[in-house]
Amino acid sequence: MKLLNNNFSHLPERIAGLVELAENLWWSWHPAARMLFKILDRRRWKESIHNPDKMLKEMPAEELERASQDLDFLAYYDTVLAQFRQYMDEKKCSLLRNECHHDTQVIAYFSAEYGLHHSLPFYAGGLGFLAGDYLKECSDLNLPLVAVGFMYPEGYLRQRVGADGWQENVSFKMDRNAASIARILDDSGAPLIVRVPLIDPPIYVGVWLVSVGRVPLYLLDTDIEQNDPWNRGISARLYVGDLEQRLRQEIVLGIGGAEVLQSLGIEHAVVHLNEGHAAFSLLERIRDRIGEGLSFAEAAQKVKQTTVFTTHTPVPAGHDIFPFPLIEKYFSHFWGSLGIDRETFLELGTHPDDRSGFNMTAFALRLAEFRNGVSRKHGEVANQMWHNLWPDAAAAAPSIQAITNGVHVPTWLEPKMELLLNQHLPQGWLENHDYPSLWEKIDAVPDAALWETHIWLKMKLFDVIRELARKRWSQDRVNPSMVIAGGAMLDPSVLTLGFARRFATYKRADLIFQDLERLKKMLKDRWRPLQIIFAGKAHPDDHPGKMILQKIVNIANNPEFAGRIAFVEDYGEQYAQYLVHGVDVWLNNPIPPLEASGTSGMKASLNGVPNLSILDGWWLEGFTGDNGWAFGGDPVPGDRSPADAEAVYRLLEEKIIPLYYETSDEGVPEGWVRVMKNSMRQTGTNFSARRMVKEYAQKFYMQAMKSVIVNV
Ligand SMILES: *Cc1c(COP(=O)(O)O)cnc(C)c1O
Repeated sequence: MKLLNNNFSHLPERIAGLVELAENLWWSWHPAARMLFKILDRRRWKESIHNPDKMLKEMPAEELERASQDLDFLAYYDTVLAQFRQYMDEKKCSLLRNECHHDTQVIAYFSAEYGLHHSLPFYAGGLGFLAGDYLKECSDLNLPLVAVGFMYPEGYLRQRVGADGWQENVSFKMDRNAASIARILDDSGAPLIVRVPLIDPPIYVGVWLVSVGRVPLYLLDTDIEQNDPWNRGISARLYVGDLEQRLRQEIVLGIGGAEVLQSLGIEHAVVHLNEGHAAFSLLERIRDRIGEGLSFAEAAQKVKQTTVFTTHTPVPAGHDIFPFPLIEKYFSHFWGSLGIDRETFLELGTHPDDRSGFNMTAFALRLAEFRNGVSRKHGEVANQMWHNLWPDAAAAAPSIQAITNGVHVPTWLEPKMELLLNQHLPQGWLENHDYPSLWEKIDAVPDAALWETHIWLKMKLFDVIRELARKRWSQDRVNPSMVIAGGAMLDPSVLTLGFARRFATYKRADLIFQDLERLKKMLKDRWRPLQIIFAGKAHPDDHPGKMILQKIVNIANNPEFAGRIAFVEDYGEQYAQYLVHGVDVWLNNPIPPLEASGTSGMKASLNGVPNLSILDGWWLEGFTGDNGWAFGGDPVPGDRSPADAEAVYRLLEEKIIPLYYETSDEGVPEGWVRVMKNSMRQTGTNFSARRMVKEYAQKFYMQAMKSVIVNV
């Protein structure tokens, strides 16, 4: 496969391997590689916002020449490059050893979004980060997997908040030539262009490669000159509100994605759909089988046996339903090619209880033998939501299984915390971090050392927030109250709650403001105060979500709250890293059971930031009684917000605040540190992407691949 990489001809031969490193996201989860770029040029590393590709491109040749003669730098460079090359050369298929008989036995993973690094803005929230972490872990485990997604140059949304607290979307377009991505070329050396089959008038896609360690991620791009403006806009932004354009996105991702794999010569044995957005790819697979001479029913059965589908949300808006006339407009010639009629086709995507349109989740569930939700509770909820799709199934056997999400430990464990653990956990622990016994040794970490590391990370977070507020003040000239709201008055010695996530209304970002007087008392306590940092984006079309955001910003810039509430703009991967490492407690209070999983809490917990969370999603499995705080486990009729807020206040007043401020003579809150250790121990094993991917491989991929072997 030919690639058009960025031009790095100004790099001296001796350090040309920096390009190899910069062009593979391996650098993003290996602190040693990040450090290499940092020591190459601290200022440019910072100014590029940790983007090695951009930084190398902008570095003058003389400076690179100097580095290529610096013996210390070269020694470090040689070590990191050797580590990278060794990683890339390891043999494939360790976990699916017995199932993988030849190279064509790959799994194709489809997702509408990927959260890999902030320099690649192809995500909106949890679904994307799950997918990004998934790819990194598949790379670490050396699974034979390729991924397909979209190149969205405008990302999701770049958030600014006006003085009135209203969220604005600043226009922005990523520079495709200054990121760890490469354009894929055809044999003649021109950009590869693929036509999406059976769509008329035609839509074309260009293709980009993101190398996620050993896993290739192919990104489709409709912003190319072969397309008219409407088609060019298909991949501009994530989750467009316009239904027809949304359908066109899903056609391109599913059908175009399958075609791209074919044109790259990648024969995939198994498809894994991360949510229903790409489910149309199954139609292409069925069509291929029909081309081999099978009937529609036979072909669909074969496809089903090799399809994995993960549903991610019980929130109705999270499931795309397209009106039948719209489906007819794009698929009326498609059902003929499948040898079925209109009714049979539409029935594939019709939910028996809601016949209002073509439901992508119902469609994917019907055509996938392997189906799961993303936590035990979500598995149950998903079964209730969808059991009518299988009216004849035995009630005892759940139609949808549960595989609880996990987070990629090397990505989310802060490097300084990792160094501390290296001193006390058994050697090689990070390579085997899903083994529970390794984490028992966390008790050997001295309390004072863990506390000191945490405080260091907290200071770092506060530095970042303050610098951001300073920039808004000095460069953007925002009014002073917005500087306060941005967190300028935060105090690192004060107990700090963090709440950062998408501002979907069911997440109830404003729950803690139910009783303002009671909250104020805690915030302004003379000896044991509290402060709260908020961050997150509302979907551009979500008016109620934006109103909640506005309410919080207005509280943050109100002097009554004494500068102890902050709202950090433009939440994304970068601020998520600082926040999950640096606050003291991670707050989560959605309306149960709407939070299918909630992975940010795992990221915090992994770094010794305990959760204060409602019993929903992963926390129903994660809460052990001594690794954080839980509430809201019982159903409440009607509006449950007052009761949930009361529970949060009580936990804060009676448990959390006293424990935090109860310190030893040396200033270490020993009881608190115990909770920190319990939370790290629990998360590192059970809620790691390592555990999760192994579960997918064992429960799903192995079975699906066996059926391929039987079939050939
Ligand atoms: C992990 C992550 C999420 C998902 O977290 P939730 O707990 O599901 O809200 C969203 N956004 C960012 C930037 C993340 O890193």
